[in-house]
Amino acid sequence: MTLFRVFFVDVLLQIRLLRQDFLRWFMHICIYGGFMLLLLMHALDKFITQPLFPGYFPTLNPFMFLRDLFGALVLLGIIIAVYRRYILKVPSLRSRGQDHYAILILTVIILSGVLLESSKITSYSRFKEMVSEYTVAADEEELRTLEAYWVKELGLVSPQLSGPFDAATLEMGKEAHEMNCAECHSRPQSAFLSYALSRAIKPIALTLDRVNILAIFWYIHFLACWLGLAYLPFSKMFHIFAGPLSLLANAVMEEGKSLPANVATREVMELDACTHCCSCSVSCSMSAAFASIGNVNILPSEKLAAVKAFITGNNMTEQQLRLLRQGLYLCTSCNRCTEACPVSIHLQDLWLHLRENLLQRGEPELLALTPFSYTRGLGRQELLAEDYLAPLTAAREAIIEKWGEVAGPDRVPGLKPLDQEFKSSLDLSTQASTFSACFNCQTCTTVCPVVASFEHPQEELGLLPHQIMHACALGQRDLALGSYMLWDCLSCYQCEEQCPQGVCLTEVFYELKSLAIKQFAEKISQKEGR
Ligand code: SF4
Ligand code: SF4
Ligand code: SF4
Ligand code: SF4
Repeated sequence: MTLFRVFFVDVLLQIRLLRQDFLRWFMHICIYGGFMLLLLMHALDKFITQPLFPGYFPTLNPFMFLRDLFGALVLLGIIIAVYRRYILKVPSLRSRGQDHYAILILTVIILSGVLLESSKITSYSRFKEMVSEYTVAADEEELRTLEAYWVKELGLVSPQLSGPFDAATLEMGKEAHEMNCAECHSRPQSAFLSYALSRAIKPIALTLDRVNILAIFWYIHFLACWLGLAYLPFSKMFHIFAGPLSLLANAVMEEGKSLPANVATREVMELDACTHCCSCSVSCSMSAAFASIGNVNILPSEKLAAVKAFITGNNMTEQQLRLLRQGLYLCTSCNRCTEACPVSIHLQDLWLHLRENLLQRGEPELLALTPFSYTRGLGRQELLAEDYLAPLTAAREAIIEKWGEVAGPDRVPGLKPLDQEFKSSLDLSTQASTFSACFNCQTCTTVCPVVASFEHPQEELGLLPHQIMHACALGQRDLALGSYMLWDCLSCYQCEEQCPQGVCLTEVFYELKSLAIKQFAEKISQKEGR
């Protein structure tokens, strides 16, 4: 029942998309619905339409009308897509080569099909072929009236007959038509697109017929269909199949109860289900960061492409990996991208799993501590104990290596001369500069939940919140940056709310961490010779 509901509501009607944006929904329904119906009823007519409708013939109604209707739907969808992508330029809707390709190949397939049909309507050589094949018993006069009737009623362009014709000729032509042709030829006016185009090309129809335009359009149409089909598994159009599969798989998989192997399979399938509609990027709470930093991997729709390249083993440069990492870390885990995705891709889960994957590569990542550690902590039960601890240990060791002043409970840190540069770097931000107002009441340390969670906090955490404020006041850079407390802080703001002096401890911590990460990144860059 769930599968049936999801198939009808989410796959066929795409109600998720409708809830977000009517124009996008309409565009998608036009392209998806029109294309699938053309594929099933026209391209695969021998296997589907003929067995279903024994009287089927592509030049008979209602099939002729329906073919044009489906083609018109796809064209209408393409026009809306072009309008949104290139004229309206919807914010966060980014265009990639795949998007241009999808629009181009669909346009060529549909337009070449319509041109082929409109040329068939006007083609005199085609008419002559049919006459010689199906009207063997007709005499000269009968053939002349038949030709006149086709010129008048079926859009044929004849080199010798152009009308107007008298009523008797047309009546005789109609009889000949009904006797020889009507069984498999409806009047083409119902194929409204092809017929309208056939009227437009009427003045040059005889020239086109002479250069065998029918064969040219046929080859273009055939090659475009063939190319579209051959490249389908590698293009974003594969979502036609992967999208419904992803939706159906998600419908039957229970959150938190599925086996890890099944979750991994679903995630791989989801990578192909993306339509690059950019709903996730439009909703992303970090899109403002993208506006100032410019790393496209911050936007979930673009991050997904990089994730796919990473997972499928494409060689990524260090620079590409760094940008992907930044995109993964600059995520607030707000889940808005997952909520917005019309094909139900579990984007946030993907980011979390990939973060873990990158962390397990062993490079020290200070963000593995906090506030990132909070996110990891929530999913801790999903990880093996050693997998959870390894990145934390690597990051802590990196801190000790660089700022080892407070490493180890027995260590008595030696005071260094005041580091004026460090102190003034904190003075740059109004909020961080409040550290100088601290009068050592220790309220911050008393209310801190991290401090409270350790029996011997000083041994485990190094300097405590109020001591870090003092280290800043004394210009002791290594003491402040080397304290585990700084990195274990949950950014809960309790200390800041309780401080009688209005010291913005959490902001001071942020500034210190930014400073440390900047120095750390510089050190890694030097090591890699970048
Ligand atoms: S979970 Fe991350 S990527 Fe997704 S919308 Fe929120 S901030 Fe953006
Ligand atoms: S992940 Fe979902 S919402 Fe984002 S671009 Fe792909 S299909 Fe659209
Ligand atoms: S609560 Fe405020 S004044 Fe008291 S020690 Fe902490 S930072 Fe200093
Ligand atoms: S924000 Fe303050 S109270 Fe909260 S964990 Fe960090 S230091 Fe402790």
